[in-house]
Amino acid sequence: MWSARQIPTNATGGTWGRVGGPSAGGLLELIRTGRARTRRDLLEITGLSRSSVAARVGQLVGAGYVNESGVEMAVRGRPSTVLVFNEGHGVVLAADLGATHARAAICDLAGRTLGEVARELSISNGPAVVLSWLESSWRDLLASHDITHHLIVGFGIGVPGPVDVATGRPIRPPIMPGWHNYPVTERLEQTFGVPGVLENDANLMALGEFHSGLSSCPSLLFVKVSTGIGAGMVVDGRLVRGIHGGSGDIGHVRLANPESGPLCACGARGCLAASASGGAIARRLREQGRPVHTSREAVQLAHDRDPAAVALVREAGIQLGGVLATAVSLLNPQVLVIGGDLVELQEHFMVSLKEVLYQRTQPLATRDLHVRTSSLGDRAGIVGAANLVVEEVFSAESVDRTLAGKPWSLSGT
Ligand SMILES: [Zn+2]
Repeated sequence: MWSARQIPTNATGGTWGRVGGPSAGGLLELIRTGRARTRRDLLEITGLSRSSVAARVGQLVGAGYVNESGVEMAVRGRPSTVLVFNEGHGVVLAADLGATHARAAICDLAGRTLGEVARELSISNGPAVVLSWLESSWRDLLASHDITHHLIVGFGIGVPGPVDVATGRPIRPPIMPGWHNYPVTERLEQTFGVPGVLENDANLMALGEFHSGLSSCPSLLFVKVSTGIGAGMVVDGRLVRGIHGGSGDIGHVRLANPESGPLCACGARGCLAASASGGAIARRLREQGRPVHTSREAVQLAHDRDPAAVALVREAGIQLGGVLATAVSLLNPQVLVIGGDLVELQEHFMVSLKEVLYQRTQPLATRDLHVRTSSLGDRAGIVGAANLVVEEVFSAESVDRTLAGKPWSLSGT
């Protein structure tokens, strides 16, 4: 697949990977990502002829992908018309379904939220209950914002478990009973008549953080610590999913001897998530006779300086720091973003995590590493979902297929 992301910045020495140079879809990627503002920029970057650029931009303007907006003065020659991606060309349906909390939103093509609803909703209620809520929430949001169905370009949904992105189905998700192999995207494609993507929630959060002030970061690792633990990676602007979408599932890395560790939701003993997640801390407090049911309640107790909760949170930071030392040694990322309920506990959680992380890594792996907490908090998944859908729907390949009048699907792209 040809992608504008592969365009060398000095295009004169590069190859295009396709006879005839970049297509109309390829030019749209250059405009949408801000690398080209005028026809002159497109001529210089692509090396296409003036007539080819004019014809392809004409196609994009005609289809409503691009607007002409004002002029840019040139040092030499005539002023150029400025080309901008038409962010009002459609809307994206975005959703973040967490273990105990669900969020649905409508976003414009710049990823800005136009409307959003959130509620407590356990993913363990199963797909029938959760997806019915999602369908009616999106319908209500569309109606209350007076948005007609034909403006929807696609949908993106995050879930707290492993996902086969090619089929749009969760695969043996430990904390999502009833969801294994459920055709999530198929169902919603039928409901709304547009293609969509199902993703692991930590992957979407990684992408959300990337698009919120870190888009120049070449390598970002995001870790979510809430009811469970998951991680997502964005390298060179792309999610790293592994061959089946299984990368980043660090919650089930074994810490202890399988015989002696606590039982995990996946059925194994000694997993990181079975002792260092917010859900595990809540369970251990319950075993001590405390009325704590959720990750958030456990975090609140630690906030209030309850000694047992603080001790468990510190231990969780140490355990996660140890596993992240391995991850950082493997990947050498530039930014490590920690998100989820526990990051509020800077003093107890983040300090112990960082201490172990730096102790157990070589200086070269952490010399320029920035460890930070999520800037988007609860909204990272929604922002990531909206951006992922826009990237897929307006990729060079998808746009070319649409312009050619061919059917296409987001699944598997
Ligand atoms: Zn496990």
